[in-house]
Amino acid sequence: MVKIKSVQNLIGEVNNNYIKLILIFLLLKTYPCFATNSLIINVKDTKIVLEGDFVQGGLVKGKINKDINIKFKEKILRKTSDGSFVIGFGRDHPRQAYLYFFLKQNWVSKKLNIKQRKYKTQIINGLEKKMVTPPKSFWDRIKKENRVIKEVRSLDSNVDFIFQKFDWPTKGIISGVFGSQRILNGKPKRPHYGIDIAAPKGTDIFSPTEAIVRMAEKDLFYTGGTVMLDHGHGVTSVYSHLSSINVNVGDKVNKDQKIGEVGSTGRSTGPHLDWRINWFSERLDPALLIKK
Ligand SMILES: [Zn+2]
Repeated sequence: MVKIKSVQNLIGEVNNNYIKLILIFLLLKTYPCFATNSLIINVKDTKIVLEGDFVQGGLVKGKINKDINIKFKEKILRKTSDGSFVIGFGRDHPRQAYLYFFLKQNWVSKKLNIKQRKYKTQIINGLEKKMVTPPKSFWDRIKKENRVIKEVRSLDSNVDFIFQKFDWPTKGIISGVFGSQRILNGKPKRPHYGIDIAAPKGTDIFSPTEAIVRMAEKDLFYTGGTVMLDHGHGVTSVYSHLSSINVNVGDKVNKDQKIGEVGSTGRSTGPHLDWRINWFSERLDPALLIKK
């Protein structure tokens, strides 16, 4: 229970049971119970096993005979040597998803039902004006930075770290959740795709699984000090607003290896880690991965 420890560290000597009750309450309030589901599909003598969160923001891991091609969202999926693969459903994924298998010279589709979520509205005031609506002079820089981020998110790497269990990257208090609709200084903006973990500046941030560092930038416009990790099979994670960075692009990091420290660089109102996870262009909810 990493979170219990962290809250204790922050607020000192407080009754353990009391904290546990608050945490359970917060978790229940924030995350309606999305039970991890297992689904076994049998098509034309082939068995496909799927396991994970069939919900917006969820990730599902599957296994199939490794010689059978499988397609999701127009992408032929990468498989491990034992036939494992992953698929993800973004924040606004429609109610239905279709997985395709190439069997006996034909693509056969299977429908998956994706549970729909209700998101919170988060109001943030007091941001610098240029951070809410950047002036034209920043557009080129922002465009360039977004292009690099997009490139990293499109990687389909050959490493299988995504099949490891994810740990929390830092200790702190959850101050923002996946999917919230944001109103910044009174203006409706893009939803928040990360989990915000509030912690003092300088708090260590660790890699949640083994990974390869694909970005280590000190000062991006929105996200300030930013690290992007590649877990393989299209899954990347992003760590934003860092005050310092301990890794370089191309490094292979171990699970629980320090990658940087919490800060408040970029568009941020106080020290926190903004932690995001993507499956290619689909935004996933880190909280759903952590509980596995
Ligand atoms: Zn955030």
